[in-house]
Amino acid sequence: MRIYLSVDLEGVNGVLHSSQTQPGEPGYERAVGLMHRETNAVIEGLRKGGASTVLVNDSHFDMRNLRIEQLAPKASLINGWQKPYSMVSGAQYVDDRKVDAACFIGYHARAGSARGVLSHTYRATVFLDVKLNGQSVGETGLNAALCGYFGIPVMLLTGDDVVCDEARELLGPITCVQTKKAVSRYSAECPPFDETLTELQSGAEKAIKDKRSWQLFKPPSPSTMRITMIDPAMADAAELLPQVRRIDGRQIEFSDSDYAVLFKLMLAVGVLGASRKDAHF
Ligand SMILES: [Zn+2]
Repeated sequence: MRIYLSVDLEGVNGVLHSSQTQPGEPGYERAVGLMHRETNAVIEGLRKGGASTVLVNDSHFDMRNLRIEQLAPKASLINGWQKPYSMVSGAQYVDDRKVDAACFIGYHARAGSARGVLSHTYRATVFLDVKLNGQSVGETGLNAALCGYFGIPVMLLTGDDVVCDEARELLGPITCVQTKKAVSRYSAECPPFDETLTELQSGAEKAIKDKRSWQLFKPPSPSTMRITMIDPAMADAAELLPQVRRIDGRQIEFSDSDYAVLFKLMLAVGVLGASRKDAHF
């Protein structure tokens, strides 16, 4: 079986502040060490459960966090940026064949969640809210929809209790491993790390064997994305794209019959919005 892993950092046990998520900031190196250990626990579980090929996509920030020499044996790694489908790049094919399922590891709650640790949706300083066909979604929903568009089910999600609830609510009864309990956006109750590693390994092994719990989340065609930008100047920039409609000061909207086009537009609107970040105003 060929399994794809999209690995983020904010959902890892022990990570609870933005300073742990930025290269060069205090706490980053420790956080990346924990990220490797959680990823490797999942890979071990997948191998025990019958995975023949594991492709890991580094899905955090500049996507240069994971180090191939520190990953479990026989796992390949997509490292670095730019890549066409960001956190879902490379999911369509592994060894020129479609992957059987995807896992979302170290994921976090969507922008605006009440408690979710380090909650945001793709661009924390640009997107206030992202709606897919009228429903607020986070990276879990946006990425699961792209996997679904490729015909790939999601079989496992790991992160705090808030993102686990978000995933079950949106995707159905998927296997989730809770790595920590959110207290607030910058605080969590962290269980013993060894327990988390054991649960990640057994959760991955259980998930790969239990195909009935795999969730194919296929977006309808056409689909519509509505994004509330943090600053109207960011909406001004996004509106330059011909397919993007301005709804009001902060909101933009775009539709397409092809979800991959919508996903790429979301990424492009994020880049344009970020170019309008003003440090003083
Ligand atoms: Zn991240």
